[in-house]
Order: sequence, then structure tokens, then C-alpha cells
Amino acid sequence: MTVLNYKENISESMLNTFERNPIFRNIAYFSMEIGIEKEIPTYSGGLGILAGDILKSAADLGVPAVAVTLLYRKGYFRQELTPEGDQIERSVEWEPEKLMAKLDNRVTITLEGREILVRAWSYVYVGQSGYSLPIYFLDTDIDVNSESDRQLTWELYGGDNRYRLCQEVILGVGGLRLLRDLGYNNIKTFHLNEGHAGFIVLELRRELGYDDFEKVRNDVIFTTHTPVPAGHDYFPYDLISSVIDERNSAHLHAMIGGDGVSMTDLGLNFSRYINAVSKKHAEVSRAMFKTDKVDYVTNGVHSTTWTCPGFARLYDKYIPSWRNDPSRLIQALQLPDDEVWKAHQAAKMRLFAKVLEESGKEFDSNVLTIGFARRAATYKRADLLFDDVKRLLEIASGQVQFIFAGKAHPHDMPAKDIIKHIFGIAAKVGDAIPIVFLENYNMQLAQILTAGVDVWLNTPIRPREASGTSGMKCIHNGVMNFSVLDGWWIEGWIEDVTGWSIGPLSNEAELVDYDETQDAIDLYNKLEKKVIPTYYKDRKKWVWMMKNTIAINASYFNTHRVVKEYCEKAYGTVFRGH
Ligand SMILES: *Cc1c(COP(=O)(O)O)cnc(C)c1O
Repeated sequence: MTVLNYKENISESMLNTFERNPIFRNIAYFSMEIGIEKEIPTYSGGLGILAGDILKSAADLGVPAVAVTLLYRKGYFRQELTPEGDQIERSVEWEPEKLMAKLDNRVTITLEGREILVRAWSYVYVGQSGYSLPIYFLDTDIDVNSESDRQLTWELYGGDNRYRLCQEVILGVGGLRLLRDLGYNNIKTFHLNEGHAGFIVLELRRELGYDDFEKVRNDVIFTTHTPVPAGHDYFPYDLISSVIDERNSAHLHAMIGGDGVSMTDLGLNFSRYINAVSKKHAEVSRAMFKTDKVDYVTNGVHSTTWTCPGFARLYDKYIPSWRNDPSRLIQALQLPDDEVWKAHQAAKMRLFAKVLEESGKEFDSNVLTIGFARRAATYKRADLLFDDVKRLLEIASGQVQFIFAGKAHPHDMPAKDIIKHIFGIAAKVGDAIPIVFLENYNMQLAQILTAGVDVWLNTPIRPREASGTSGMKCIHNGVMNFSVLDGWWIEGWIEDVTGWSIGPLSNEAELVDYDETQDAIDLYNKLEKKVIPTYYKDRKKWVWMMKNTIAINASYFNTHRVVKEYCEKAYGTVFRGH
């Protein structure tokens, strides 16, 4: 397939042509959410931030890609928490006008028989070597569209199934039409980050003008992120025929059959390459989808985005090439212990300043601090730690502080209950074990948290965490993971070297029967026998573990490695380095 030109191989003048001419870009990355920078609130969690991190590394490495998502003028939401722990959802104010360029291009799509205009905003991310990557944010909020059609690109994961279907047609069909209108006529790979953009196959089929699904398949690759069947978007044919139209609904029926369309089925059936996001997740996906065709590319994070200033300064000093070649972080083993500790304490104090500002609680930088922050989804079990509060008090009183954060989806009542539960426990244990729950978890807070705690706790129900990425932010800052063996951690875990496991290795049987209390018991035992004693009694080993975490984990779980793997395994491009 295509051999790419990379920046160092072409002259400056050619680079301009190369960058400006859409013909030279041959990869289009489609994602329902993209979190590219703090000021652009078009993401809800891991999926969107991963997309942003992948695009940043692609730009850093000079991969000729372009990306498409929706604008979400109302963002996701800003979380406020009452003193009792009730979540209040506020809309996010942001002004695309200040951060992106509005393009003149307009394309038409038909929804429920109405013609709707779609335009885009362009945000150009410039990578470390100066190579740029455009991201197009689709927008139907144009005055010629009806009031309700204008709102179709307002909310991320808002509205009902019909609203969601309309958004996915805008993304897949509208997105491809917009790329064509902009002159992207040489895309060899449409990369679907999750199934949301799957209707792209309908549009590719229409472009061909006939049913050559081999041709469609040859242009698409699909990354699945959801290890449970209920997590996949599903639209019955009667809804599809009312939103799209009878003809296309019939096409879809001929293409995949059944009573409706799971967007994952579109991805699975019409892609030349399919991947999961960790080794374990690939095993689970193969069993769930009953196909051997699922490869894996284990996720990573964008190293320079998620390394705090203190550690970045250290790496610059001792491992100068790390920024555009994070695999070099393997040399972190040579970092001086005292400098590692100081960089960490600086990040910890920055976090504690925020804790003090927001909660009025004064945390002690000499006390072991454990963090837990992620979307408050029930499978993530934020409150597993409080399974046996009496036991926790025995082990941890006066020895450990906890910091929590995470938004619950507005319709997810059980997740909201978990947040309230944590508030209740915090009030109950009082000063014996200081616990704070910080409001409004987002990229900015994630940066401070994943650098400032000593240990990152992760207790999902196996095997529900396809990969997980927050723990990878931590490893860039020498913060150890203390986690259930699921997702990426199965690949990154070396006991007492890069962190600690909780509970047994996952196996297929656990998909059916599961002993939850065992995880809590193991958590308490390890906290008592390993984590607390090592922190207080063996600081030298602790710092040695921090360095191993960086060297062994951060050198691998980064999106530079991820993008290179996609180039080799999925895009079919020869990777030339940077
Ligand atoms: C990294 C990140 C996530 C994803 O965390 P997981 O551990 O994968 O659940 C979610 N939300 C925010 C704001 C993040 O920065």
C-alpha cells in the first residue's frame, strides 16, 4: 500500500504542498468524541481523550491523517456536587469561534425526509515537528435548518435513541460528504473509533453506486472499545427507516439482517481490520462477537500531554529525546532518586493546593495518598474500597488519604448513588481517613490528579475495563497502579516492581460467575501488607518502583507506540520514524 512521506524526507516547500493538499492525506479518523485540549469540552471520558491523544501522536509523527467528530456546542456538562453528594449538571459555556475556524463548506444530508445542511469547524493541531493535523467538528446549528435540527449537534450523549441515530448519521454520512467537499479524495483508510460512525459504509456504498462490499470493506478499519453487548448502540429498522429512509434501511437489512442494526455489527462486517484495545479485550471480543478476526492494539496516552512539569523537566535533562520518542523513557532507571522524589512532591503539593481551595481540607504531603478518578459508572466500582469500612479504618487510619473524582452520566442513577455513597463514607470516617471528592473531573483535573497522588486505585469488574487509560497517565509521573487485573494492567503489571494487583488473574469463567468480596479482601490485605509499609518504611524501594513504573510502563503505554502499531497493522503504511 501507500508509502508515506515523513517530514524529514521532504523539503520545506514540498511539506507545505503536502500539508495543504488534501490529496496527500490518506487516513481519516472518525470519532463520536474527541478531547484534544482542555478548552474544547467535546468529550465525556476515556474514549474521547484517547482519540485526542492518538491524533496528537499522529501529528507528532507526521502521519498524514485527518479527523472528524461533532461540535457539541453545549459540551458534555459541568458537574457540581452538593454537600450531600448530589450531582447537579450545568451546561458548559464555550465559544468555538475563539478556538476554531468556521469553514464555508456546506453539505446536505437527509433526515426524516428533511434536507439538513451540515458545516464544519476546523481545528488544526500542530505536532512537535511542525506537522499539522486538521480536525473537523461537524455542526448543524445553521439558521436555514429547523430549530430542532439545529440542536442535533449540541449535546454529547444527550437525547433519546432517535437523537443519537441522527447524530450518527451526521457523523458517518455527513462527515464523509464534508471530507469529499473539502477535497479529501484519496483516503485509503477510514478509521472508526468505536461503531458510532459506522454509517460511513452506507455512504461509501452509495459512492460506488453498486453493492461491492469488498470495496467498501477494503477502505474501513474498526476499533471496538466495549466488552459488553449492552454497551453497543442499537437501532431497530423501523427507527432507521423513519430517520434515514426506506431504501437505505432496506440496504442495511440486506447487508446485516436481523431486527435492527448494532453499530458494532457494521464495524465488524465492513472493515478490513478490526482491533480491540488490549490483549485481554481482544480475547473477550473474539468470544463475544464469535470471530477470530479481532486483533489488538493496546491503548496508550500522549506522553507530553500527561507528564507533569516537574517530571518533564527531569526527562528533558536526563532523557532528552523522550518527547517525540517516549520509548526512551526506558532510561528512567538512571534518574537520581532525590530528584524523582522532589518532582513527585511538587506535583503532590500542587494537587493539595487544589484540594484546599476546593474543599477547605488540608491534606498532608507526608501521608500516603491514593487517587481514584474516572467516570462514575457502576462497573468501575468506585466504592469497592468501602466494602468493609471497619477493616479499612483498622488498616488505614492516620496513614492514608483518598481523593476521588468522576462524573455520573445524567441518566445513570446507580452511578449517582455511588457518588453519594462516597460522600456518606467520607462524613462517617471523618479525620481518621481524610477523603475528598473533587468536582467536575475533566482533562485539567486529570492532569493534576494523575501526577499528584502516590498510588492510583482501579477496581473494575473483570473483564469490563477494555483498556483503561488514566493509569497510563499516572505511570508517566511515577505514580504506581494498584489495580484489578483487567485491561492494560494485565500487560503492564509486575508485582512489587510496577505496582500491585488486586484479585485473581481474569479468566473466561469470570464472565459468568464472580466473587466480588474476594477483591475487597485482597485490596485490604495488600494495602496493609505491601502498599502502606513500603511507603512509610522503605522509601528507597518506593522510589525504585516509581522509576520502574516510568521505565517499564510509560516507555510502552504511550500513543506514539499506538500510532506506530496502527500504521503497521491497520493502515498498511510503512512507518519511517520521525
Ligand atoms: C483519562 C481520563 C478518563 C479515562 O479514564 P479511565 O481510567 O480509562 O476510566 C476519563 N475522564 C477523564 C477526564 C480523563 O482524563
